[in-house]
Formats: sequence, C-alpha cells, structure tokens
Amino acid sequence: MALRDIITDPNPTLRKKCREVEVFDEKLGKLLDDMRETMEKADGVGLAAPQIGILRRIAVVEVDDFYIEFVNPVIVKTKGEQVGPEACLSVPSKSATVKRPHKVTVEYQDRDGKLMSVTAEGFIARAFCHEIDHLDGILYYDRANEGK
Ligand SMILES: [Zn+2]
Repeated sequence: MALRDIITDPNPTLRKKCREVEVFDEKLGKLLDDMRETMEKADGVGLAAPQIGILRRIAVVEVDDFYIEFVNPVIVKTKGEQVGPEACLSVPSKSATVKRPHKVTVEYQDRDGKLMSVTAEGFIARAFCHEIDHLDGILYYDRANEGK
C-alpha cells in the first residue's frame, strides 16, 4: 500500500464529474487499499478518488468499526433529514453546517464488480452523501445554506 497526496480546494480536479469504473482488476484493488491507508493516515472518515486526483467513481468510508468501499455508488433512496457539522480533507481547517438525509440506501459495486446495496443512517449516511457528492464535483459547503 502507499499513501497518496490529497489535493485541496480550489484545485479544479475537485470540481470535475468522475467517470464510471468499468475495469475491476488488481489496479483497482490497489487503489482502494491506497485510499483506505491515505484516509486513515489523514484521520478522515471518508475519501473519494478525485481527492487524490483520480476522476473515477470510487470512494471509501470508515466510521469507527464500519468500513466500506464504493465503486460506482448511487444513492437510490433517502429518508428524513439531519442537520449537522461537516468538514473535508480537501478543505482544510474549515467546517460548515449541512443538511443531509437522515437515512440513505446506496447501490454500488465492490472491488470485484459485484452489485451490492447498503442502508445507513445518522453520521454514516452523512459520510456517504458527502463522498458521493465528490464524484460529481460537489463540495459540502456548496450545500451549506440549503434549507435554512
Ligand atoms: Zn470531502
């Protein structure tokens, strides 16, 4: 595994829309391993591929004992809402209050290309939304004033 450099706002790469992953090979597995290591080293709860300069629909989320790898994730269902603070490894030393769904269901593929689904609520749901936004070039503060 290897640490990757995390790029920071206003790097234009963070604003691009990522392409779907079509090839599920060893290279993808290594990238996911690197992303997990980079996220943990930075003490983050999530990391999306564009944050290390890779414009592919890939993200990892780790909250306490919960760890998940998303390839081509899509939020297919949301319920309720929550309002809380959010920060980002690519926007250092800042945070803002963001409204998110309380509960989300995400369909995605694992590192082998297998179709999967996961439902989460609370902070993990917030992390899913934040990371999946990155894949469309959206940063959390874009949503900071929504619903106020
Ligand atoms: Zn982020």
